[in-house]
Formats: sequence, structure tokens, C-alpha cells
Amino acid sequence: MADRRPSAPLLTTSWDDGHPLDMKLAEMLLRHGVTGTFYVPARNRPDRPVMAAADLRELAAAGFEIGSHTADHRRLPGLSREDAGRQMADGRAALEDILGMAVHGFCFPGGRAGRWGRSLARELGFSHARTTRMLCADPGPDPFAMGTSAQIYPHRPAALLRNWLRHGGGADRLAMLRALLLPGDGDRAVRLGGVLAALADRTARGGGILHVWGHSWEIEAQGLWGALDRALAAAAAAYPVESRVVNRVLATAWPAASQKSSPRGCFP
Ligand SMILES: [Zn+2]
Repeated sequence: MADRRPSAPLLTTSWDDGHPLDMKLAEMLLRHGVTGTFYVPARNRPDRPVMAAADLRELAAAGFEIGSHTADHRRLPGLSREDAGRQMADGRAALEDILGMAVHGFCFPGGRAGRWGRSLARELGFSHARTTRMLCADPGPDPFAMGTSAQIYPHRPAALLRNWLRHGGGADRLAMLRALLLPGDGDRAVRLGGVLAALADRTARGGGILHVWGHSWEIEAQGLWGALDRALAAAAAAYPVESRVVNRVLATAWPAASQKSSPRGCFP
């Protein structure tokens, strides 16, 4: 609906887990002139290293936003309110110590806020909290349940359908679901690049927000660097430089009018 669209389309990207391969990802983003937010836990499980402090400072100095992803990459559902709050606050404090600046953004590990996550994010003074709700051409009315458009991952149709259903379905999101189904045969990674490139073009023309997210360790494991390169090239062609923002800016740029919109589409 027209009243749910911002005055200009916006492009954002976000990257979870702070893996050392995020430096390769950042290089590619810089080459395309696309910015983004990196959500970094203080620690992760043994086979998922977290980048060095110097690398984090380099990302921040390059203009990327650094957001929190809990202290230990703990999924909040199942934690007590006290433990969830401690994970969120301690993770942010660790990043702020490294960066010497305030950290405003948060992303729920596993994408789910659980019972306490949204209210804690607000109480702790974060500017936003990102979920793994996909298929959205706007972030939704609640900055503490920020949706995304598409993951750099060759999801099978059933997985996309589950994401659509789990987060409220909606006609707007159905259109994006259709656009993201990987048509035809052949290499899924190659097809993903083409599908995301087409999506970037279409979303920009519709005045929508394109929010692409992923994990650098997964891009490496799935052989998706080429797909990402193609998607970023298309996004950069479709979205003018001034429309490329980090999530902190997106959370405040989204007009208050969207608060009044119907709880359909990509809204929780
Ligand atoms: Zn994560």
C-alpha cells in the first residue's frame, strides 16, 4: 500500500556471527559501494570463530555498523528473562569495549526473540532488533522485530514457504516468495544470484526496502560468493548511493505512519 512505502527506496544488508570471513564480505561490499550492519557475538561455538578485535575496528572505521548478537551466541527462547538480558547487555558491552563507541543494534541469534527479547531490546536502549523473518519489502512497524527481504542462501521452496507462514503470510510477502523460488534446473548458487539480482531491480522500482542478509561462513560453505557478487552489483545499480543505509538508520528512517498499518504482509 502506498502509505507503507517510504519517500525513497532504501537498501540495507546485514551479516551475522562476526566470522573472520566477514572481512572478505566487507571487501566485496566496499567494492560495490554497499554498506551494511555486522551483528557480532563476543564468542561463538568452537567451530565458529569470531573475528579479531582489530578487524572489528577496521569494519567500523570503514563505515559499517557493528551490532550485538549476544555474548555467547545464545538463542533467547528458553533463557530466563534475567539470562537473556545478561546475554544482550554483556554482548554489547564487549563490543563497546573493543570499538570505543556506542553499539545501537541487535540481532536475535537464530532470529527468534522468544518471550522477552523484544521488550528487553527496548529496555536496554537498542535502536532496533533484527529477526530472520524474510520476504519483506519494508522492515515492519516494530523496530524490535525488524524483518528482512532475502537471505544469501539457496533455500528450497518448502523453507521459504515455512518462513512465509510462520511470520503471518500476507499478500505482499507472497509476491516476494514467488520471486525468490528458484526456477529451472542447474546450479542453485548461480540461479540464486540471478533471482536476487531481479529482486533488487523489482524492489527498487516499487519503492521498497531491500534487506539482504546472510553469514559469511555459510556463503563460503555453499559456494555463494559469485551469487552475492551478482546480487550486490544489481542492488548497487538499482539503488542510488544516498539510499544505501545501515540498519540503525533504517530503523529511524521508516516513517511513523507504518505504525498504523495493518498487521498483514511482513508485519508480525
Ligand atoms: Zn547468528
